[in-house]
Amino acid sequence: MEDSVARAGLPLGGARRRLAEELRRKGINDSAVLAAIEATPRHFFVPSGVAHRAYEDSPIPIGSGQTISQPFVHARSLELLRLSESDRVLEVGTGSGYQTALLARLARHVYSIERVPALHEGAAAALRSLGVGNVTLECSDGTAGWPEHAPFDAIVVSAGAPDIPAPLVEQMAAGGRMVVPVGARGEQTIALLERTGNRIVRRDFDAVRFVPLIGEHGWAQ
Ligand code: SAH
Repeated sequence: MEDSVARAGLPLGGARRRLAEELRRKGINDSAVLAAIEATPRHFFVPSGVAHRAYEDSPIPIGSGQTISQPFVHARSLELLRLSESDRVLEVGTGSGYQTALLARLARHVYSIERVPALHEGAAAALRSLGVGNVTLECSDGTAGWPEHAPFDAIVVSAGAPDIPAPLVEQMAAGGRMVVPVGARGEQTIALLERTGNRIVRRDFDAVRFVPLIGEHGWAQ
């Protein structure tokens, strides 16, 4: 991917390095996650009018009433997932596709679902232009998961859920991890679920504000 970034003539390596350093200062320790952030051009995934803000540690509107998350929140979620190169990952809420690109660097294959067609298409174009090959995208309701490709070693939900969607729990592999923001519409906590055998252990982390997860096993609207 670095090659295609360089070919696109938009290196901005200094800005990406400064963002990774800022995240380390704020408490992100996973060096693979920080390296992925340093290598992935976030400005490819935000509207061109706000590209100059792409390396600030803040969320940015991406159209269709949705936002690309704050880099710190992406980094925290990825760190909690403890990804390895052999992992197959399900992402619910492709959005801009930025986190999809980070996941693609850290895992073997990423299956990512987005419900808004315009965002699905925009993310597909951005990922293609960066030459990211190990992703499969679909436009549908991700609260049902993606049974054809299950089970997944890791699942990341990028929108706030009222409860943990049951189909996603069913699609966790043995030893699988899932990160999902759960709570009220306006504020959630990041929950980490881990499956050992038939046991699911849940731990709660940071307070966050995600856009709602809308679908059969999420919010009605
Ligand atoms: N990680 C993304 C987050 C985008 S915001 C990024 O940083 O760009 C969350 C996304 O989840 C939105 O694009 C929204 O449309 C999508 N979403 C909400 N409910 C969904 C559902 N049931 N299935 C798939 N995508 C959903």
